[in-house]
Amino acid sequence: MEIITKQQALDKGLKRFFTGEPCHRGHISERFIAMDKCVTCNSEIGKLYYQKNKEKISIQRKKYYKELKAKKQITS
Ligand SMILES: [Zn+2]
Repeated sequence: MEIITKQQALDKGLKRFFTGEPCHRGHISERFIAMDKCVTCNSEIGKLYYQKNKEKISIQRKKYYKELKAKKQITS
């Protein structure tokens, strides 16, 4: 991967930059400019959140689709 500093990425209007140096958890990944967080750390946090809240998320999803279905039935 090509090294791109935060400033260079900002100049190009990119959302991520890459230093080639490992993050505090040892990932050599791109980092988000907005959060200054490594992409791998971020996706691991997302996975962890999903695992912890699996039931809650699936209930919310079901509710969402149920409402969506109900809305469709009204309009059609
Ligand atoms: Zn990381």
